[in-house]
Amino acid sequence: MPRRRVEPLPASDAGPGLDVSTVGAIVAADYHGEADLIAVLRRAQAEYGHLPEPVVREIARLTGILESRVFSAITFYAFLAERRQGKFIVRLCRTISCDLQGKDRVARRLENELGIGFGETTGDGMFTLEWTNCLGMCDQGPALLVNDRVLTRVHAESVPGIIAECRHVAAAPARRSEGGASRVTTSVPSATTFSTVEAEAGLKAALSLPRSHITAVLSTSGLKGRGGAGFLTGTKWDFAVAQQSDEKYIVCNADEGEPGTFKDRVILSESADLVFEGMTIAARAIGAREGIVYLRGEYAYLRPHLEAVLAHRRRHGLLGTNVLGVDGFDFDVSVRMGAGAYVCGEETALLESLEGRRGTPRKRPPFPPVSGLWKKPTIIDNVETLAWVACILARGAEWFASIGTETSRGPKLFSVSGDCAAPGVYEFPLGITVSALLDQVGGAGARAVQVGGASGACVPASEFGRRLAFEDLPAGGSVIVFGPERDVLAVVCNFLEFFADESCGKCVPCRIGTKRMYEIVKRVTSGEAELADIDRLERLAEVVKRTSFCGLGQTAPNPVLSTLTHFRHEYEEHIVEE
Ligand code: SF4
Repeated sequence: MPRRRVEPLPASDAGPGLDVSTVGAIVAADYHGEADLIAVLRRAQAEYGHLPEPVVREIARLTGILESRVFSAITFYAFLAERRQGKFIVRLCRTISCDLQGKDRVARRLENELGIGFGETTGDGMFTLEWTNCLGMCDQGPALLVNDRVLTRVHAESVPGIIAECRHVAAAPARRSEGGASRVTTSVPSATTFSTVEAEAGLKAALSLPRSHITAVLSTSGLKGRGGAGFLTGTKWDFAVAQQSDEKYIVCNADEGEPGTFKDRVILSESADLVFEGMTIAARAIGAREGIVYLRGEYAYLRPHLEAVLAHRRRHGLLGTNVLGVDGFDFDVSVRMGAGAYVCGEETALLESLEGRRGTPRKRPPFPPVSGLWKKPTIIDNVETLAWVACILARGAEWFASIGTETSRGPKLFSVSGDCAAPGVYEFPLGITVSALLDQVGGAGARAVQVGGASGACVPASEFGRRLAFEDLPAGGSVIVFGPERDVLAVVCNFLEFFADESCGKCVPCRIGTKRMYEIVKRVTSGEAELADIDRLERLAEVVKRTSFCGLGQTAPNPVLSTLTHFRHEYEEHIVEE
């Protein structure tokens, strides 16, 4: 759903006489085709503080893209704004892990200190206050994003200092407002296989094989995509190998926006080389020359690090022409930024965004390995999947296949947050039980866990013997722990508000259904519902699940359906019938 309706800007916002000459320089530097529209908009916004109508018209004129299409992109992405914004955009994460850690107290203090509400800008034009969905800092919440700088473990008491520091930065003309290091590590040291694999051993092994054997190694290993869908990676790559095309692409999906998921942020921070190695192996296997990392807008602070790793790889012959001296094997990788849209984690929405449009999902089939970016065969893999590809080629398919269960092979990284003593990123074999995981992370006494993020399942304590595996509880990697005092309905409300906000609006069941489900659960929690509302909610959830166009709408009802299965009595306890 568009986050903001396009309205004519007030004269003061439109900036009469606004000098738009800088737009020309931005377009000249950054625009090479319509795929660059989002990048140009981000640059123009950084320059002008927002995207007023004269700037948009000038971008449309210079790029030849219809004004309506430019506006359409701006209204879709949360990080693009047609209204004037403050010098500092303060975004407070409102998703569940930050909620459990007290984001409401931080919110009230921010409003008091700044004298504005959420969605408003201070009179001096210094601060804009906004809610944001998951920042991927669930193990260190509450989290704030101040421009591109992420701040973690923010308490109400730390708010005045943060505001004062921004004012200090603004008063120092030589410093940019985004300055300052960002915390990107985990609260628990992430001791994973990734840090023990010999550098480039996987790529060298892949280059020593006939190209057709690379996907066979992956198939033997049993690797399934770690983003959640769980499709066999080797089989997916085989589809792309089979396409006759001189133009193929490798896309790394680094748009992990699922609430409670932050493992990809850690992998990109600590093991980016391994991810790029996996992309290079994929390129060798299917015959691609170009790779793209689609990095979520919330992780913009990781971009300089990723660019530095890429530059290092180019200097060492690991990217570019004749990779590692192999004649005719040319491959390079670029980083492209998202602009704040959860749905772009869905692979066809991601492709739309990469092509410079709103991130609305495409009809499938055809699937991306057959017709993806620019209608060319495209492999889209999650960050973690690509890192495992490099490990498998380095250590062998048998090593990987010997870990896990019959149908869920290998180790897996889990983002663990919520009510546990040691939140962080952990590596466990697939098939680990929920109770064994809770023992490791200090989550004893939990009343429930949410597996797979907001779109996953709420598992009650009576089912903690179940396994985290594709055949039982498929987990994209997120486990959120709920302690004995947590209100299950408050959690459901939080998830439904998230889905209602992130629905792209393309289809009615999801666009309207997510909002109606949210409204009903709100009524239940405030004691204004009747028993019949619970049945209405259940029927609506089933309809949204069955009739929505893409995975977002199809999974948005999961929090409702799984809590109605296990915690129906808690819904009923809120109903007071006369
Ligand atoms: Fe958009 Fe429909 Fe997918 Fe929801 S289910 S995100 S409205 S396409």
